Amino acid sequence: MNYNKKTVKDVDVKGKKVLLRCDFNVPMAKDGSGVITDDKRIRAALPTIQYLLDQGAAVIACSHMGKPEPSFEKWAKKQTEKGKDPASLTKEKWEKSLEALCMEPVAKRLGELLGRDVVLAGDVVGPDAQAKAAALKSGEIMLLQNTRFEKGETKNDPALAKAMADLAGSDGVYVSDAFGAVHRAHASTAGVAAYLPAVSGFLIQKELDFIGGALANPKRPLVAILGGAKVSSKIGVINNLLEIADTIIIGGGMSYTFAKAQGGTVGDSLLESDWLDYCNEMIAKAGEKGVKLLLPVDTVIADKFAPDADSKVVPNGQIPDGWQGLDIGPETVKLYCGAVKDAGTVIWNGPMGVFEFEKFAVGTKAVAEALSETDAITIIGGGDSAAAVQQLGYAEKMTHISTGGGASLEFMEGKELPGVACLLDK
Ligand code: ADP
Ligand code: MG
Repeated sequence: MNYNKKTVKDVDVKGKKVLLRCDFNVPMAKDGSGVITDDKRIRAALPTIQYLLDQGAAVIACSHMGKPEPSFEKWAKKQTEKGKDPASLTKEKWEKSLEALCMEPVAKRLGELLGRDVVLAGDVVGPDAQAKAAALKSGEIMLLQNTRFEKGETKNDPALAKAMADLAGSDGVYVSDAFGAVHRAHASTAGVAAYLPAVSGFLIQKELDFIGGALANPKRPLVAILGGAKVSSKIGVINNLLEIADTIIIGGGMSYTFAKAQGGTVGDSLLESDWLDYCNEMIAKAGEKGVKLLLPVDTVIADKFAPDADSKVVPNGQIPDGWQGLDIGPETVKLYCGAVKDAGTVIWNGPMGVFEFEKFAVGTKAVAEALSETDAITIIGGGDSAAAVQQLGYAEKMTHISTGGGASLEFMEGKELPGVACLLDK
């Protein structure tokens, strides 16, 4: 995939209407009060929005929020499958479920952050959106309703994409800045690019520069640290990095499947028996390719999966029955921290242990600290990994923490991202 894409700086937006796809899929309070519990994603979108407004564009922002079901029949079917009594499923309840995913709170918060009015459309491409978009002037911003209120959004329906593009008019521009959604080929993330010149905003540009740069042309040696819960969810990432990295470090829950594959005992640790052969093949492949592969030498085990479990350190692959590995051990910490010291680039995906429990966050914290102390370019991908680095207080010290969980994983897998591929090449 070509990561060298045109950005907002490569197009003239003065006096034009810009359809801007953002990621405003923010977490909301569960009580239906419309309170946004974390506005990080809205704040992250501000630089691109401010730039466009300063350049004299009229900004038509849009985003999806949650997973609304735009058809009552389908909604009722899904609820029934979840075990709800069909007789209780009224149209009112369905409408309420949609109401909870309206963009009002986002428009309000965005307005507060920008210090100006944000006009909210009552629909996505309907009469209200059309009228408000037509009336929108240079330097003004409006927000469309939840793009997933339209059935065609997730189906990437060309008619919907065209209708969205039409809001920006014949000389309109499409700016994509929703990195968290670029792995999805939806009408608002990819389809519209067929009807408008399409460029990236600053958020996507940063992701492409750092992750794309590290994958395509890394400062070497490139060290990949891979952990997290399961081998199976990381196969794509492992396979791709095996082609690129100089060193691969394995930690976290997935390391026990490797330990078992090598003939060890892992007690009650996370184990994926279907992937034992894969682990051995991967070890062999690393050898053939001359990729240095580091596996844990010791591990912290616990007598239960709990924050207050009894724990002790044992050699890797020697876990007694009734115990489970929840973190890498102190010798492994030394080994791994040493391996990142002279790296040119470090890509990290997947915590080294159950960092949510303080007692088993030691390995993850030590690796984060080692990364914060290197001169290497440090890139964190994956939702939980980003959360871990933030929670442990090392976020400011990293070169780049990806804002897209699923999207960053697919990026690291080397997959083509539809929301990036559709943008104009530089
Ligand atoms: P990411 O979202 O960054 O891609 P994953 O979702 O793959 O990361 O993995 C994160 C999860 O892995 C965390 O919730 C963490 O508790 C869990 N995990 C890490 N090590 C272990 C372990 N030894 N046993 C069980 N779970 C683990
Ligand atoms: Mg995860």
